Amino acid sequence: MKEKIKKIGGIIANAVYPPACAVCGKPLGDDTGPPGLSGIHMRCFSHTIPLKGNLCGICGKSIGDDDIYCKDCNETQHTFDRSFAVYEINSDMKDSLYRFKYQSKREYAEFYAKSIYEAHKNLLHFLQPELLIPIPMYQRKERVRGYNQAALIAAGLGEYLGIPVKTDVLVRAKKTVPLKDCSFTERRKILDGAFELQEPLGVERVLVVDDIYTTGATLDACARVLKENGARHVYGVNVCIGAGV
Ligand SMILES: [Zn+2]
Ligand SMILES: [Zn+2]
Repeated sequence: MKEKIKKIGGIIANAVYPPACAVCGKPLGDDTGPPGLSGIHMRCFSHTIPLKGNLCGICGKSIGDDDIYCKDCNETQHTFDRSFAVYEINSDMKDSLYRFKYQSKREYAEFYAKSIYEAHKNLLHFLQPELLIPIPMYQRKERVRGYNQAALIAAGLGEYLGIPVKTDVLVRAKKTVPLKDCSFTERRKILDGAFELQEPLGVERVLVVDDIYTTGATLDACARVLKENGARHVYGVNVCIGAGV
């Protein structure tokens, strides 16, 4: 009976809010999208830029054939071990992440998590993270938004990988100014002391989840705290990343 009610509830919800594409925001109809993914139109998937070819060995940005690292990683000493993403950011993905973050489109998390899983399942099984941690939001900010977008992606990914997700180990202890227009060095300074551990970590390999990688300063700030508290390897995974230089 419960199942039946749940099913009917689902049908009603779908009639009122038909599942929409994570890229264009329009109803999916009977478009099942590309193989292995859902929540995106086939035509909209062709507007995305999945990262492939030679990628930076540290941040995962697309780089030239003869390069090992991108320009940023060549010039920066990162604290995290390695990070990777799925899509190079473009206007379509920017819009998608904006709606996900600021217009309550929580359901997009499913498409993002599946995208990460399909693109990196072999690497993730190889790296063997023991725990997934979403980049924490400042608590008051999360209360206003109603959710932490990175936690939604981590929850989906954790389920695909069969790895636990913890949202209460690492916390954002300090409210920081928006980092959007700041350089890596400025970000590093602003983020100093921004994160802290609330309870013992208890694992050595952590995968930190976020929606977009910009300079890596946020991931570094988290990695620093995690490594000071017993983590030996801190990896990062993101839905999107900027273009390589
Ligand atoms: Zn679409
Ligand atoms: Zn890089």
